[in-house]
Amino acid sequence: MTVDSDTRIVICGAGAVGASVAYFLSKRGAAPLVVDRARPGAAASGKAAGFLALDWNAGTPVDELARASFRLHGEIADELGADRLAYRRTDALMTAASDEGDLERYRGLPNPGWLDGNVVAHQVIGGRETTAQVHPRLFTECLVEEALTRGGQLEIGVVDGLETDGSGAVTGVSIDGEVTPADVVVLALGPWTSQAQRWLALPQVFGSKGASIVLEADVPAEVVFSEFIGRDGQRRTVEIYPRQDGTVYLNGYGENDPLPDDPDVIEPGDVAWQELQRIAGVHSSVLGDAPLVRKAACYRPLTIDGIPLIGQVPDTPGAYLATAHASWGILLAPATGLMMSEMILDGESTSIDATPFSLSRLPAGRL
Ligand SMILES: Cc1cc2nc3c(=O)[nH]c(=O)nc-3n(C[C@H](O)[C@H](O)[C@H](O)COP(=O)(O)OP(=O)(O)OC[C@H]3O[C@@H](n4cnc5c(N)ncnc54)[C@H](O)[C@@H]3O)c2cc1C
Repeated sequence: MTVDSDTRIVICGAGAVGASVAYFLSKRGAAPLVVDRARPGAAASGKAAGFLALDWNAGTPVDELARASFRLHGEIADELGADRLAYRRTDALMTAASDEGDLERYRGLPNPGWLDGNVVAHQVIGGRETTAQVHPRLFTECLVEEALTRGGQLEIGVVDGLETDGSGAVTGVSIDGEVTPADVVVLALGPWTSQAQRWLALPQVFGSKGASIVLEADVPAEVVFSEFIGRDGQRRTVEIYPRQDGTVYLNGYGENDPLPDDPDVIEPGDVAWQELQRIAGVHSSVLGDAPLVRKAACYRPLTIDGIPLIGQVPDTPGAYLATAHASWGILLAPATGLMMSEMILDGESTSIDATPFSLSRLPAGRL
């Protein structure tokens, strides 16, 4: 397919991934239409932690994508303004914490002053060269805004079908029951991508729910991954992310609820967010006293092999998938957007090897 300025490109889903695809396409002169049923960053991309790591995917098929994307985050922050995205480099620490019991045998280094609870610092696991953070909602909104200033469009509506011609090539997208003509369609619907199996044979994408809270507390830029042992003996990894806006984000409590259609009705269970708040207080008196700003939940999009799907849909010219980035969708969004823009505009990804993300590696099916 020849792509020119008249090519109609529709990106379904305005999460971090869809936003990044729109951003990189618009940088090359394309003017995509972005469609979301709620708003940019309405789902996981507005509710994630926003932690970024250069080399934490080392030894996996995602490594090259992660390294490229970590660098692109830095470039985007330079270009658009770090403050606009709340992008900053951060330190990262592993700790051990528990409701009761002496933890000194796990100590590897002195605690930072704000970690004054039943917690011991174990190991430095990231520094300003290799770890960073962004506010995921600001990042997502910002990339969509940039695409719009370059001629892109945003439509709020539910994508509910795909039109193809006799050869199977994409001719349009149905939005709220009305067909918008399209030559290229990118499905970036996160955990909702499986809904597109009603129109296309695709690999299965699942959603894995996680709860989070945001507390009002001003602490240094030290991300904490804490191995926490509860009074009942249950272990979980709680993640604590100080943010530069004077808040602290915590997650680490998974839940098993089915994915609703509307991202705006997703809520954390009471046990999940209350436990996160309680565990925050076990780590730090500052966090224990901090007012709750927000509680939320969101779904990580996952494939059965845990590797994203980035590429053309077999036998459907013009249809692409960019999804299933699991726990690293904010990190991996820019490189995914770059790859997808190259696939659409140049016919192949020239920056990053797309082979590990090919759809054909997994069985495909329809609903
Ligand atoms: C608790 C938690 C913490 C996380 N922390 C991090 C982190 O620190 N770092 C990191 O890199 N990743 C993190 N992640 C993972 C990351 O959030 C996701 O991988 C990423 O947000 C997925 O982005 P997406 O654009 O693919 O999907 P989503 O953000 O889910 O976006 C999909 C969009 O599609 C829209 N949509 C759905 N159905 C339709 C339809 N029919 N028509 C139109 N629009 C539709 C939705 O409204 C939504 O806006 C975290 C995830 C969770 C749950």
